[in-house]
Amino acid sequence: MKQTDILILAKKIAEQYGYTLPKITFNKRLKFTTGKCYKFLNWIELNLDFCLNNNEEIISGLIKHELAHMKYFDHGDQWKKEVIRMDTIPLFCTAKMNRMINDGVWTCDINYPYQYVCPNGHISRKKMPIKEKSSCGSCSKYYDEKYLLKLI
Ligand SMILES: [Zn+2]
Ligand SMILES: [Zn+2]
Repeated sequence: MKQTDILILAKKIAEQYGYTLPKITFNKRLKFTTGKCYKFLNWIELNLDFCLNNNEEIISGLIKHELAHMKYFDHGDQWKKEVIRMDTIPLFCTAKMNRMINDGVWTCDINYPYQYVCPNGHISRKKMPIKEKSSCGSCSKYYDEKYLLKLI
């Protein structure tokens, strides 16, 4: 979908489901996420490549997904209910993970759904789940159980 069409679609969706339309921008540097919601800035950022390569149905799911984060930060039950109220399925949230970067910012990951954190807060993203116990590569070059990665 073209960016101009997406903005029109977003406006329509916001009106239909009772949202104030946030600022919407397109980011071609997003690699790991389809969209980001900056709740406190009233701003949604969409992955440009993803937008250009997907149809209206998918993009409208993405917009609803991010709009619902304006109300609920996580992918919990309230968020899911809100997405369902908007007549779509809670897409990108079962196999796909999201994480909080800082207050009010969520990013919904499509390619690296498994995210791990070490005791020192380093985040690693994986395409596949880690089978064995793994420790953080930033904290130690070798396996060290002090720095075990935990799925988040
Ligand atoms: Zn999300
Ligand atoms: Zn670490």
